[in-house]
Amino acid sequence: MATERTLSIIKPDATKRNLTGKINAKFEDAGLRIVAQKRIQLTQDQAGQFYAVHKERPFFGELTEFMASGPVVVQVLEGEGAIAKNREVMGATNPADAAPGTIRAEFAESVGENSVHGSDAPETAKEEISFFFSGLELVG
Ligand code: UDP
Ligand code: MG
Repeated sequence: MATERTLSIIKPDATKRNLTGKINAKFEDAGLRIVAQKRIQLTQDQAGQFYAVHKERPFFGELTEFMASGPVVVQVLEGEGAIAKNREVMGATNPADAAPGTIRAEFAESVGENSVHGSDAPETAKEEISFFFSGLELVG
């Protein structure tokens, strides 16, 4: 399997509870390398641009309001099959369905406030990384 990069976001529910280090340890323990990382505050409009694919969904307003409710940590994870591996480490969208030991099983508060975002495919990973990072910020 090829080395890939994927975009991860530690969401406001998790930064608020001081869980950045514990979540990063899950990535590193799974063999994912954090090759770029910054803590930022999104506006609701920026959150809407990032989640544009969901703009017709009933939860869009709530989702973008939540993503702008506090700081997020945006990061690029690198590793063998990083996109699928990160989705595994994250667990299912709804923490009630997330496998034991996954980030969402351990830390998520609800289906909306579920602690992390991860890209779902190579094309979206590329787009999402360039939404937040320039080439100069990716040091490997
Ligand atoms: N979401 C929500 N209600 C739902 C489904 C999703 O609030 O019924 C939120 C949740 O924060 C989720 C995000 O919208 O992480 C994006 O949804 P997606 O289906 O892409 O889930 P993910 O890829 O994050 O597992
Ligand atoms: Mg998704």
